[in-house]
Amino acid sequence: MKTVICPGSFDPVTKGHMDIIERASRLFDKVVVAVLNNSSKNPCFTIEERIGLLKETTTHLKNVEIETFDGLLVDFAKIKGASAVVKGLRAVTDFEYEFQMSMINKKLCPEVETIFLNTSQEYMYLSSSVVKQIAAAGGDISLFVPEEIRDKIVDRLLNM
Ligand code: ADP
Repeated sequence: MKTVICPGSFDPVTKGHMDIIERASRLFDKVVVAVLNNSSKNPCFTIEERIGLLKETTTHLKNVEIETFDGLLVDFAKIKGASAVVKGLRAVTDFEYEFQMSMINKKLCPEVETIFLNTSQEYMYLSSSVVKQIAAAGGDISLFVPEEIRDKIVDRLLNM
């Protein structure tokens, strides 16, 4: 039984995140999406909202569960019995930070691997920040977030 962790802020979940989660769910037996509960990152959406949106967009993926964590990712991975952390890579800019994190995690906990999945080409420009900026300015975010949660995200960002 191979369990992996897909960590992130998911503030809010985008089609780029969903692409990585769906691909991980095809590769591994179980995927734990770990929503980082870190107030220093000052998220727009509360932890409950971010978890709720992810649950709604992953109902079709039977081997995916949504959880929250704070503290060290490798400790959470160990608690979950996960053998790897799966991360998406968009560009060289992602790589530098993610490479450093993966080396540190390897030092902290050698038995937990980091696996990188390259972004799909159509999502390489996409981030939660872009979605927030476009929606807050009244733009159409249909191309960027799963359809079932689009209106919730728009309502929320227009009423901030
Ligand atoms: P963001 O940078 O959008 O705020 P998160 O911290 O929520 O992202 O990222 C969680 C994970 O999802 C990270 O591994 C990140 O690289 C990945 N990810 C986010 N957007 C994309 C995308 N468009 N394509 C591939 N991976 C992505």
